[in-house]
Parts: sequence; structure tokens; C-alpha cells
Amino acid sequence: MKFSVRKAILIITFILVVLSFIIFFDFFTSDMNGWSVLVGILIVYGIEVFALWRCPHCKAYLGRLTIFAKYCPHCSKELE
Ligand SMILES: [Zn+2]
Repeated sequence: MKFSVRKAILIITFILVVLSFIIFFDFFTSDMNGWSVLVGILIVYGIEVFALWRCPHCKAYLGRLTIFAKYCPHCSKELE
């Protein structure tokens, strides 16, 4: 899978995580009903980040590197 495609998937999933947080968390009543769903989504997101957020050259996990990073901190090659 191309790095740009993986990046797009991660951005879309991140937006879904934020949206689900807004949907399931009732800010007025602090209702906890949706938390099991939210925790499930966060676990899936965590696994997805760990599986997809990797350098296309050396396959190293990119960790806290932002989506705007241009070079891999491990092998210094350009992230396309
Ligand atoms: Zn690398």
C-alpha cells in the first residue's frame, strides 16, 4: 500500500475518532453510555496507527511524527 494512501486512511480514521467522541460523549450530562463503543474505536485506531504509520523504506514505526513530516527519522529517506 502506498504511503500517501495509508496516510489518508489514518487521517480519515482520526476524523471518525473525533466525531465519535463528539457523538458518544454528552457534554451537558457527562453521560457515559457510549464509552464502551468509544474505547473500542480507540483500540482499533491504535492498532491501525501501529500497523500503517510506518516508513515505506525501512518499515520503522514513525511514532509521534506528524503527517507533515517529509523525512523518516530512522533512515532519513523521503516519505512520499
Ligand atoms: Zn525509514
